[in-house]
Amino acid sequence: MPEFLSLSPGAFLFPAAVNSLVLVQDGGVLIVDTGLDDSHARKLLRALDAQQLAPTAILNTHSHADHHGGNATLLKRFANLPIYAPSLEAAIINHPLLEPLYLYGAHPPKALRSKFLLAPASPVQGVEAGRVTLGGVDVELLNMPGHASQMYAVRFGELLYAADALFGPEPLAKHPLTFCVDSAAMKRSAASLLELAGVGLTVPGHGEPTSNLAELVEVNLAAFQRVTDAVLAAAQTPASVDEVLRRVCQALQIEMSNPGAVVLNRSAVSAHLAELAALGRVALTVEGNQLLFGTG
Ligand SMILES: [Zn+2]
Repeated sequence: MPEFLSLSPGAFLFPAAVNSLVLVQDGGVLIVDTGLDDSHARKLLRALDAQQLAPTAILNTHSHADHHGGNATLLKRFANLPIYAPSLEAAIINHPLLEPLYLYGAHPPKALRSKFLLAPASPVQGVEAGRVTLGGVDVELLNMPGHASQMYAVRFGELLYAADALFGPEPLAKHPLTFCVDSAAMKRSAASLLELAGVGLTVPGHGEPTSNLAELVEVNLAAFQRVTDAVLAAAQTPASVDEVLRRVCQALQIEMSNPGAVVLNRSAVSAHLAELAALGRVALTVEGNQLLFGTG
C-alpha cells in the first residue's frame, strides 16, 4: 500500500498515477485532488487514518476525471466536506457528463463514458485564484489555463503543486501528445512558473517531485512545442482534424488503442490547430463537406 511521502512541514504526497497532496495546518487537512476512482480514494483514506488525519476540505485543481474521481468516496465518509475548484471546472465536476460531452461533441456513446472520462458527480463550489484559506489551510492558487479551461496550481510555503500544468519526464515520454484545450495558454502557463521565486519542491500532477522547477518547465515546453511542430508539419497538405491526428501519431510514434485516447488526442490536436490558425500559420477551409486545416 502506498504511503505518504513527507515533502515539507505539513505537506504530504500520496503518490499514484495521479498524485494527491495532503496539506496540514493548525488542525486543517486539505486534500488536493482525489485521484481517479474509489480504489485510489480508499487507499488515500487508509493512509489518512494511519496518520490520524481527518480531511477538512478538498480542492480539485481541475475537472478531469482522474483528479476528482475519488471525491464521491471521501464524501461517503465525510458527508459535509467542502469541495472547491476553479469555477468553470466546478461546473463540470457538478455535471461530469460535460467532460465526455465536450470531448465527443455530442452525448457520448458508452465507450466514452468510462471512469477515465466520466467521474461520479460531486457538489463543488467555485473558488477564486489568489491567497485563500480552504478547510483551515492557507494556500495560494495560481491560474494555469491551457491543459484544462481553468486550472489552478497550488503554493503551500515553498512547495508548488503544478497540477497538470507540468508533467514529469516519464509521463511526458509515455504520452508525447499532452492533453490540452488551449495549447498557447498551456505554454504561457508553464512558462509563468519560471517567474516564481522561492520554490523548493515542485510536484507535478503525474510524476515525481523535483527540486529543479526550471528544468521541468523546459522539458515540458520543449514537449509542447514538439507537438505544435508536428501538427504544423501534418497540415502541409490540407486535412481534416482526424487525418492531422493520424499523421501526428505517425510522426510521434503514438499507437491509440481505445476510443477515449482518440477523443483526448483529437482535442489536443484541435487546440494546436487553433493556436496555429491564430498565428496565421494554418487556415480553415470547407471542401467536399470536410473541415480542412492546411498551411497552403
Ligand atoms: Zn488533467
